[in-house]
Amino acid sequence: MSKTSAVAPYTAPDYYQLDDLFTEDHKMVRQTVRDWVDRRVMPHIEDWAQNNHCPTELIPEIGELGIFGPALPTEYGCAGLDQIAYGVIMQEVERADSGLRSMVSVQGSLVMYPIYKYGSEEQRRKYLPKLASGEMMGCFGLTEPDFGSNPGGMITNIKDAGDHYILNGAKTWISNAPFAHIAVVWAKDESGRIRGMILERGMEGFSTPSIHNKWSLRASATGELVFDNVKVPKENILPNISGLKGPLGCLDSARYGIAWGAIGAAMACYDTALRYAKERIQFDRPIGAFQLQQKKLAEMITEITKAQLLTYRLGQLKNEGRATSAQVSMAKRNNVDMALHIAREARQMLGGMGITGEYPIMRHLMNLETVITYEGTHDIHLLITGMDVTGLNAFK
Ligand SMILES: Cc1cc2nc3c(=O)[nH]c(=O)nc-3n(C[C@H](O)[C@H](O)[C@H](O)COP(=O)(O)OP(=O)(O)OC[C@H]3O[C@@H](n4cnc5c(N)ncnc54)[C@H](O)[C@@H]3O)c2cc1C
Repeated sequence: MSKTSAVAPYTAPDYYQLDDLFTEDHKMVRQTVRDWVDRRVMPHIEDWAQNNHCPTELIPEIGELGIFGPALPTEYGCAGLDQIAYGVIMQEVERADSGLRSMVSVQGSLVMYPIYKYGSEEQRRKYLPKLASGEMMGCFGLTEPDFGSNPGGMITNIKDAGDHYILNGAKTWISNAPFAHIAVVWAKDESGRIRGMILERGMEGFSTPSIHNKWSLRASATGELVFDNVKVPKENILPNISGLKGPLGCLDSARYGIAWGAIGAAMACYDTALRYAKERIQFDRPIGAFQLQQKKLAEMITEITKAQLLTYRLGQLKNEGRATSAQVSMAKRNNVDMALHIAREARQMLGGMGITGEYPIMRHLMNLETVITYEGTHDIHLLITGMDVTGLNAFK
């Protein structure tokens, strides 16, 4: 077997001619990002992941591409695109790697979005243009060592000290933390209300130790946020939100991006497996001629097509401001599970070659183990759907 499958031009599956529904702008944005990914990411991504390297050197280019917070308004230096364009961007970036998509979507959905949505005009003008260009990078601190799926229990807290607050506590599993210039952090005030705030690197008592030894998302930097009596000026509090709905609103936006992104990872695995199945000869025939391998491919394209349709419709609802959190949960859960299943099947189809870095599948498979866990686990999203349809809370 030659290695041509690994480097052959990618063919994006579009079994139900979804392209007919995309506008020229959507297709142009998609092509621009696809070309950039092919040129700047694909030749290196396996090495970066193997070497646990987060490609922060790409940040200025990503800023120039305009894909940090692309759906936010142009007056803050963003691209002002619609939600479907945002989705296809996430799809194209995650076709390369879920870790890279994490870096981009944390910046856009979890840092820029809350500053835009909940911040003061001054905060918007101070941070958003720099975050859009990549001159400044951010991270989002919600998860704590003892509070993951249940963030409402958080113990990180602020105490009023006159013209500033004193912040104490710790966050863990924070994407972009090791290099971020700012962090959007969620903490309880003295009355137990959750407040959002912007922390800047260099504040005394604020540190961001790295988390090592990950087998997943190796091209993404993950760390902790540690707050030891950090003085947070009152003007750094996000004034227009309090309560758990603040971080959950950001997660809606990020989960929507993940729903699209997971399709990108699935498309990459399917495309690789399809090529391989046509080229790899066993028992004198291409393995794609055997029914068992065709079953896998037929099921993959069916599931990708269903996910594409689900997500496109969700994008329309988002554009109209009608998408519910539970609808976003359903798409995140379905699509990530779909992608993980396809990655596993595709890996088997490549036999021994499937575990190597010659092909992207094993990397996607390992990455998707994080994607199915973060931003609400697979089970938590199921509970959200269950609660939505029954009106009964099964969380506690
Ligand atoms: C690489 C990586 C990057 C991340 N990036 C970020 C980030 O940038 N910012 C951030 O804030 N967080 C981030 N996270 C954290 C992520 O969101 C959490 O890991 C996730 O929410 C799950 O929390 P946990 O790991 O504490 O698991 P737990 O909450 O301890 O869950 C363990 C298991 O119990 C199940 N479970 C929990 N509650 C229930 C219930 N009521 N009923 C049934 N089952 C239940 C879960 O589904 C899961 O299977 C990241 C995580 C990873 C791995």
